[in-house]
Amino acid sequence: MTKRIGILTSGGDAQGMNAAVRSVVRTALYKGVEVYAVYEGYQGLVDDGDYIRKMDWDSVGGILQLGGTIIGTARSDAFFMREGRRTAAKNLIHAGIDGLIVIGGDGSLTGANIFRQEWSGLVAELVESGEISAEQAQAYPNLSIVGLVGSIDNDFSGTDITIGTDTALHRITEAVDAITSTAASHQRTFVVKVMGRNCGYLALMGALACGADWVLIPESPPDVDNWQDVLAERLKAGRKAGRRDSIVILAEGARDRDGKYIGSSDVQRALEERLGEEVRVTVLGHVQRGGRPSAYDRILSTLMGYEAVNTILSAKPDDEPVVIGIRNNRMTRLSLTESIGKTQAVAEAIEAKDYERAMSLRSSSFKDAFKTFKTMVRALPHPVEAEKKRLRIAVMNAGAPAPGMNTASRAAIRLGLDMGHIMLGVHNGFEGLIHGEVEGMDWMSVSGWATRGGSVLGTTRHIPKGRDLYSIARVIEDFRIDALLIIGGWTAYETCFNMLKERPNFPSFNIPMICLPASINNNLPGSEFSIGADTALNSIVDAVDKIKQSAVATRRCFVVEVMGHYCGYLALMGGIATGAERVYLHEEGVKLHDLQVDVEKLLRGFRSGKRLGLMIRNEYANPVYTTEFMCSLFEEEGRDVFDVRPAILGHLQQGGDPSPFDRIQATRLASLCLDYLIGQCNAGEYNSAFIGMQNGHIHFHDMRDFDRMIQAEFQRPKDQWWLGLKGIADLLAASGPTDE
Ligand code: ADP
Repeated sequence: MTKRIGILTSGGDAQGMNAAVRSVVRTALYKGVEVYAVYEGYQGLVDDGDYIRKMDWDSVGGILQLGGTIIGTARSDAFFMREGRRTAAKNLIHAGIDGLIVIGGDGSLTGANIFRQEWSGLVAELVESGEISAEQAQAYPNLSIVGLVGSIDNDFSGTDITIGTDTALHRITEAVDAITSTAASHQRTFVVKVMGRNCGYLALMGALACGADWVLIPESPPDVDNWQDVLAERLKAGRKAGRRDSIVILAEGARDRDGKYIGSSDVQRALEERLGEEVRVTVLGHVQRGGRPSAYDRILSTLMGYEAVNTILSAKPDDEPVVIGIRNNRMTRLSLTESIGKTQAVAEAIEAKDYERAMSLRSSSFKDAFKTFKTMVRALPHPVEAEKKRLRIAVMNAGAPAPGMNTASRAAIRLGLDMGHIMLGVHNGFEGLIHGEVEGMDWMSVSGWATRGGSVLGTTRHIPKGRDLYSIARVIEDFRIDALLIIGGWTAYETCFNMLKERPNFPSFNIPMICLPASINNNLPGSEFSIGADTALNSIVDAVDKIKQSAVATRRCFVVEVMGHYCGYLALMGGIATGAERVYLHEEGVKLHDLQVDVEKLLRGFRSGKRLGLMIRNEYANPVYTTEFMCSLFEEEGRDVFDVRPAILGHLQQGGDPSPFDRIQATRLASLCLDYLIGQCNAGEYNSAFIGMQNGHIHFHDMRDFDRMIQAEFQRPKDQWWLGLKGIADLLAASGPTDE
């Protein structure tokens, strides 16, 4: 078994690297293994000196929320050379490190792979030159290596996403949203260049999330030589249709059909000539790597760091090097050699202008996103074929507002119109449906919705009962609604389920209906994520970061209350993302004894120098031990050692513009829901379903299964996957003082 772990960060930095370092260090210490940080990447390994330092629990305190990497990163020419790697091997052996965790991009991981393959040769050379003894060589016959992909480009094969990508998308959407508002004021055209090397992920997802007009990516160059004319025509048509702004997103690796790079000035010049107006260029550059990591990147890095330590501790001497990935929302261990090979294959395909192959090597969600994007950006829908049956599909929101509802509504309406159907918008949730607040939607009526929080259609939490159902039946008949898409939370699901049960009484309910999960609580069955929860998590993380900063000069414990009704998702994930030392969940219950233990722990911590306590409490964790009660209890017991403040985050969690993840998923799910409804209508069926993402796949659950999949009393699903992460949250908070 590995006895001593080394960790280093290398290559380009990525937000979340610190969270990974923290997780590796604390998990290793928890498991009783010594851990050393190698500062300044491979260069530190070659230079040795003071660069290899022992880490303790506190050396990684207070870093979860920081961008960059506190142990430094570098590009090392020396490590490219065998001689440099030999010195690195010597330094590792002298430091007694027999397992190395490398966080970096494909370059760094390629270096790690070579290092591992050469290890026994390097050791033999070191013995020969007398730099290490034969005994030392015998004690270190192998080096176990585990890689974590830290790269904002998301260009590594085998993992769905890499550390830093989500935050980079946050930076991109913030910038493009800001540019869009100024562009719209002046009716301007902007070209925004984003990073990504050979990978168009950031550009494509950024374009999808921001409702941009065009995207140029390396995997799929424009399929015509005169792409400049086509692009200009598209933008002109968009303006004619009423758009005020035109945004083109350009990936740094974008090329034309001949493999020639397309630069931002190429696009600018081409458009200026054809549009006869000034075109502005914004090159986003390093802001994309900067800033605080998003909630997702903090959680992802934490889970990956934990998995990396477990992997290295269970590695057998001749095991191949492993890279930790996330596939279908679960941690996976991949062969490093194989993943590097596949990653390079994409770059080679692009180089060889084999774009079909490059695209085929990307994930199916990438391909789907590209297809959806191409439809979404059309200035106007396809002309309707005369003989085509036009369905009348209604779209509505229901329940509490969730960021991303507008994005989903817009996507469904535009995609439906594009297919020639009549799209109806229902205002104000089921109340609106009861009162016939139904309106025909056109292409431009949803312009700008992609990025906006709240619900433009309007939503209420009213659950129709009794006579309401008659009214709804009438409205469905009057407006000749063929199918219904309900974007919402518990209200949406419960009502849809009730309508299904009432079908024998109301024949007009015999239409296909589908629910799309949109609730910050993430408490809906059949889906691991609901739209809005990611935005809410980011709001929680932003607020808690600020709360922590406010407490620097005092010894203070905060009890932060978050939403979620009876579902502890926001509390637990918020706890992992902010480094809380305790999370109170309704699912686990809260006992008086727990609170006593927590008070004792707080007292011990503050007496030995801790400055900040952070407890996160789900709003309904316990009806008696309320936030107020807990604060009073801690305050009384904390005496003059520490003071206590409540922070009830409240409705800020429901507001805000949707995060990139919520926008992208909202668009994807809306598109699939629409396909479902149209499929049902075309087949003459009228099944009803709720859609969800589970294990990375999309599932359509029969609406009749709704009550079987839930704990009705607590309005949450029976199966809650994230509860499995509670142990990791406890471990990271276990024995050390809280992050300050
Ligand atoms: P990234 O890891 O972000 O892709 P680089 O490609 O710049 O960044 O790689 C970072 C460092 O990893 C390099 O400076 C070098 O020290 C090491 N490295 C990269 N590729 C190799 C290689 N083929 N052999 C040895 N070391 C490498």
